[in-house]
Amino acid sequence: MKRIVFATGNAGKMKEVRMILADLGLEVRSMKEAGITIDIEENGSTYEENALKKARAVAARTNAIVLADDSGLEIDYLNREPGVYSARYLGEDTSYSVKNANLIQRLQGVPDERRTARFVCAIAAVLPGGQELTTRAAIEGRIGYEEKGNGGFGYDPIFYVPELHKTTAELTGEEKNLVSHRGKALQLMKEELKKYEKYFG
Ligand code: IMP
Repeated sequence: MKRIVFATGNAGKMKEVRMILADLGLEVRSMKEAGITIDIEENGSTYEENALKKARAVAARTNAIVLADDSGLEIDYLNREPGVYSARYLGEDTSYSVKNANLIQRLQGVPDERRTARFVCAIAAVLPGGQELTTRAAIEGRIGYEEKGNGGFGYDPIFYVPELHKTTAELTGEEKNLVSHRGKALQLMKEELKKYEKYFG
């Protein structure tokens, strides 16, 4: 059976990705499940660069189709911080309750209309034939005043989507995937992949 390896060590992302890719009918493995343990330094200056870097490193170790993502939270009031540094913001091992409290603190006194933010996601694919593809999508929202919701991961509890009147942590997995940066970027990637019938006939 044709396989996809998704290059991430993030369990929250992996859960979302499995749901979104389920209808491809391919086996989707995490890096760990594929027995690949590499630490990839995300030192690129764009989401696409980082995603491609991860996908290429894993593709060098498997014959499977490799997908990777790089994503981040851009807060307009903070000049689009933490952006590509979202995972490393305040330190990779710092808990998200601390990171989220810090961002809320930095926006203290900032009114609703200036709390705009977006999650951005770039997906990269490296195919067994060496072809490389990238897609990107975003979801617009606002930074809340306190953490809300227990779903999702990372910055979800402070990312409020005005149209839905909820944070992305208050959405079910299915609901989040329909509107999220990762869900939309992966849908675009699925459309791109369908052009390669050799792998997805
Ligand atoms: P990276 O793509 O591994 O560099 O990590 C991106 C980081 O951005 C994650 O670790 C989270 O901190 C944040 N992030 C990306 N997507 C989401 C999301 O859907 N919800 C919450 N936080 C996210």
